[in-house]
Amino acid sequence: MIHIPRLCVIGVGLIGGSLALALRRAGIVDEIVGCGRSEANLRRALELGVVDRYQTDAATAVAGADVVVLGVPLGNVRAVLMTIRDALDPGTIVTDVGSAKWCVIEDVEAVFDRMPAGFVPGHPVAGTEKSGVEAASADLFQNRRTILTPLAQTDPQAVRTVTALWEFAGAEVIAMSAEHHDRMLAATSHLPHLLAFGLVDTLARWDGDEDLFQYAAGGFRDFTRIASSDPIMWRDICLGNRKALLDALQHYREELGVLTELVRQLDAQGLERVFRNAKDVRDRYRSSLER
Ligand code: NAP
Repeated sequence: MIHIPRLCVIGVGLIGGSLALALRRAGIVDEIVGCGRSEANLRRALELGVVDRYQTDAATAVAGADVVVLGVPLGNVRAVLMTIRDALDPGTIVTDVGSAKWCVIEDVEAVFDRMPAGFVPGHPVAGTEKSGVEAASADLFQNRRTILTPLAQTDPQAVRTVTALWEFAGAEVIAMSAEHHDRMLAATSHLPHLLAFGLVDTLARWDGDEDLFQYAAGGFRDFTRIASSDPIMWRDICLGNRKALLDALQHYREELGVLTELVRQLDAQGLERVFRNAKDVRDRYRSSLER
């Protein structure tokens, strides 16, 4: 059992707010301090019982905190770290929830000159296309995974505390290198989001005077749900994880080239082979989720 007398969440949105709610429900925190730029969102977080009090100044918010969670978009991590650097207590554990990990490690190293032993990079692989504290839910991490990417110098006790924190929030915790994380997530999350945004943008600018979307059916809705996600957050993820994302995009461009030729050459067998392989893999994936 862990006990966190004071938890500070900087960025009380979907992820930060959901973690606060889940930990409060688990009964392992005494006080939750929220921090953000807009007072309206923080007031709403207070009304919803997500935080006990709030600050708009991050340096004031982290004072006396045992654990600090950075729940801000990746593009704002460095600025927040600059603000809190000199205000953190020596034993405070800091963790983040960013969807790309190497860029966060670079930000931490740039601000602190090295990776502090008490910083544990993390990423809950859970979420929705919604944003903001209104969308926060104590159940968001139930039976989902959180990936931690500690470095060699990360304090094992800090890793144990952050692991326990996510487990109390309902998640299964696994550890891997930041490079491996970024490669896996580029392929399974960042590339699909980029493609969904790109497809909808392409169709919105399609030549002709018809509104194409009036002909859209269920397949279009399923494929493009994630294009309703927050543009700023996804801009930051794509830029933060650009190296792994560019590799994934290159693979996909090659596949598109193959598919283009199969259609051009009326290669029914070839097309069926690709579709059958994809269907088998997708069906196995769906069954594994249902188990
Ligand atoms: P969100 O709902 O938009 O929440 C972000 C929060 O950060 C907002 O409440 C925002 O409030 C606050 N914020 C932004 N800049 C700030 C700053 N400089 N100082 C203090 N607070 C600041 O976003 P989210 O979906 O929770 O995503 C947050 C992080 O989680 C991102 O790094 C993302 O990569 C990661 N993540 C997201 C998902 C997902 O599916 N959404 C899943 C896993 C991980 P103000 O604007 O009022 O400051």
